[in-house]
Amino acid sequence: MFIGSHVSTRGGYIGAAKTAVAIGANAFQYFPMNPRSLATKTINLKDAQACAAYCREHGLLSIGHAPYPLNPAADEQERSLMVQLLINGLEITDACGSVGLVVHFGKYVGKDPLQGYKNIIQCLNSATREYRGKSVILLENQAGEGSQLGLALEEMVQVRKLCEQPELIGFCLDTCHAFASGLWQGSNWKELERRGEQLDYFPHLKAIHLNDSVYAAGSRRDRHAAIGQGHIGDANFSTFLASKYVRQIPIVLETGTGRDGTHREEILHVKSLIGKEGSS
Ligand SMILES: [Zn+2]
Repeated sequence: MFIGSHVSTRGGYIGAAKTAVAIGANAFQYFPMNPRSLATKTINLKDAQACAAYCREHGLLSIGHAPYPLNPAADEQERSLMVQLLINGLEITDACGSVGLVVHFGKYVGKDPLQGYKNIIQCLNSATREYRGKSVILLENQAGEGSQLGLALEEMVQVRKLCEQPELIGFCLDTCHAFASGLWQGSNWKELERRGEQLDYFPHLKAIHLNDSVYAAGSRRDRHAAIGQGHIGDANFSTFLASKYVRQIPIVLETGTGRDGTHREEILHVKSLIGKEGSS
């Protein structure tokens, strides 16, 4: 399996990949560009290609996380900016050899909620029309804070289906968000898996954000806890990690770092939960 954490790009993309190996990970997530701004970034191709080569050599899988202000549900006036940013992010993750670019599903404050979904589809269509590469857009489910859309599997599946190039769109499942939104109750994984299969969600699952939750199921509050330290708990994660859908894809922690300032210990803890389904 491919287990790791979010890592810093302080030493470039290649630095992020090397950090992952140094902490015992074979998967990682990084920010391709400034996570807090809507500014595009010039690709450092040499750095990105070194990262891609290093990942191939070491059997690492990676994903990039789009900047937080990138909102694909934004109205038309902001669309070209969002599209530019999406393309820029995809070009970087593609050059780095990453599976995809994780994008939050979107939030919409307008009166007509359907407009929010239309905006997402148009934004994704505009971005994919201008992009040629292997790295794909990974829509991330949300916790349900404020005006967030994308809590239910049905929403994500439907938006993907209605896009012009669904093959360029996959999903990233955040376990804390799934728990906070009420999508996953913790103990009902098998049922959720069956439903997601029928809806054609799991066949397009390309990455996992593995996070426990500070708050209870259905709280709609997004606060990540270390694995086993929150309301989801180790036993439910063991069941989750036994799913056939998470075997070949990057599983990345987005939790606080441990005592040594890294995720080394938590990665070991996650690995210890594999193969323990039903034992606790
Ligand atoms: Zn996440």
